[in-house]
Amino acid sequence: MIYIRRMLTRSEEDHLKAIYGLQQAGPSAFTKDIAERLSTKASSVTDMLKKLADKGFVKHAPYHGAALTPKGRRQALMLVRKHRLWETFLVQRLGFGWDEVHEVAEQLEHVSSEKLIERLDDYLDHPAYDPHGDPIPDRDGRLPERATRLLADCDVGERVRFTAVQDGSDALLQLLDSKGLGIGMVLLVRGREVFDGSLELVPKQGPACTVSVQVARHLLITPVHA
Ligand SMILES: [Zn+2]
Repeated sequence: MIYIRRMLTRSEEDHLKAIYGLQQAGPSAFTKDIAERLSTKASSVTDMLKKLADKGFVKHAPYHGAALTPKGRRQALMLVRKHRLWETFLVQRLGFGWDEVHEVAEQLEHVSSEKLIERLDDYLDHPAYDPHGDPIPDRDGRLPERATRLLADCDVGERVRFTAVQDGSDALLQLLDSKGLGIGMVLLVRGREVFDGSLELVPKQGPACTVSVQVARHLLITPVHA
């Protein structure tokens, strides 16, 4: 039997990526959550899950949600790779702000030329992280290992490095810009407000600022040992 590699549609790819994203938080992805992520109807997600299961990308049990097969996971990781490489290119080489690139990368990730993406990776010198601090899978789908925690869970007196924004909307990225907070900065957690849990942060350079718990739940950090 000859295996013919067929291209997936944009919608099929979007579903795989949504399932991958939801599986970061749990073993399976539920139809209603996938529908919410993709702003579509649950009934059309159900149809798509059947289709993706027939093609061997997804295991789908009614009421138990969907999970990617190894083949589906590999496909999703390649989409994540393309998305994050394009975001890096847009910020590093075309001068876009980190709050301006997600939507553009959502379109570019569906360009299927493998040669293009490998050249892009070479051109960028094989970056391990994108402008939001998210890890970029390599061509074999491997992700760099890194133990991160939420800034919201840090103790007063801790010194931390701001390493990534998790599920950051453009509005959140703009808010961080306005506070002078960027990826890679070392911050001292100087205080926590008793009333609402907001955190007072002192960067190694630059003025101190305060962030709400809501913001701190989106910021990933790694500890810095003095
Ligand atoms: Zn993005």
